[in-house]
Amino acid sequence: MTAHPNPMFAKVALIGIGLIGSSLAWAMRRADLAAHIAGYAPHRETLEKAKALGFADSLHDDPAQAVRNADLVVLAAPVGAFAGLAPKIAPQLKPGAILSDVGSVKTAVIRDVGPHVPQGVHFIPAHPIAGTEQSGPEAGFAELFDGRWCILTPPEGADPAAVETLKTFWMRCGSEVDVMDAGHHDLVLAITSHVPHLIAYNIVGTAADLETVTQGEVIKYSAGGFRDFTRIAASDPTMWRDIFLNNREAVLEMLGRFNEDLTALQRAIRWGDGDALFNLFTRTRAIRRSIVDAGQDTAAPNFGRGKKKSQ
Ligand code: NAP
Repeated sequence: MTAHPNPMFAKVALIGIGLIGSSLAWAMRRADLAAHIAGYAPHRETLEKAKALGFADSLHDDPAQAVRNADLVVLAAPVGAFAGLAPKIAPQLKPGAILSDVGSVKTAVIRDVGPHVPQGVHFIPAHPIAGTEQSGPEAGFAELFDGRWCILTPPEGADPAAVETLKTFWMRCGSEVDVMDAGHHDLVLAITSHVPHLIAYNIVGTAADLETVTQGEVIKYSAGGFRDFTRIAASDPTMWRDIFLNNREAVLEMLGRFNEDLTALQRAIRWGDGDALFNLFTRTRAIRRSIVDAGQDTAAPNFGRGKKKSQ
């Protein structure tokens, strides 16, 4: 195994210091991965919160200033902001530096950032499959990436040594790392993350709009299933708007499949086809079991609802 110096980088710049950016800062501190962590956010209030929390060595209201001299730059803002950020930081990127991101979509990031990357800077997009429904710098914690996958999507011709360095970085942040094509990433994430979020936003919206059942009743009698959806539907509106706008093709493709399967279920209910329902529910239960077996969730009952005695 190659020995890696501590700290791994002299300077890391985080462009965006919300849930993911601040968690990355804490994870870097835990493993001593950066001698200097620079953070950027557009709002003064966020910078002040970050200062009080103490995860960054310097804080900036100008992204170009934050990335100056950095060996690793990580874009950790909503993906819709990348197209505006890339030309601002590009002139200040150090030759030999790695430029990466944590955006939840990858083809659009390569489309928006790729053309601005100067010669000699290694652009290697990444997506940690880790998160919570919380946002902002106070939401971050060092363990967020532990045991979670981080997917790297290096564009064609990316420097293998730089890919290896980024891989090591994420592993030292606690992640397991996979490398795949950006288009494939977007398709996989459309079904595992983006469409489920859309379903949650939709069902909570439908319940909120019901005229014959009051909102008070929806809240009071919310069964476990609905409550789980409300947790997902509480996710950051800006981040999720940007995800749907930037992974349009893959989400529409998966929604098409979803609608066909939903129609089949509708038919099974209409015609009283209990076998069809039972068979599907048995298959889906096995998927849940494989997720728990793979260590990506716990089998604890009543997940996230353990605090109230009456439930
Ligand atoms: P977040 O907690 O809302 O933080 C976003 C950060 O970006 C804040 O520091 C914010 O600064 C800054 N920002 C917002 N708008 C900006 C703009 N127009 N230009 C520059 N900076 C801007 O979001 P997050 O959950 O950390 O998500 C960040 C990225 O990680 C997104 O690309 C998301 O797709 C990806 N991601 C999220 C999750 C998740 O579960 N949350 C998981 C994996 C990947 P201000 O506070 O000053 O506005």
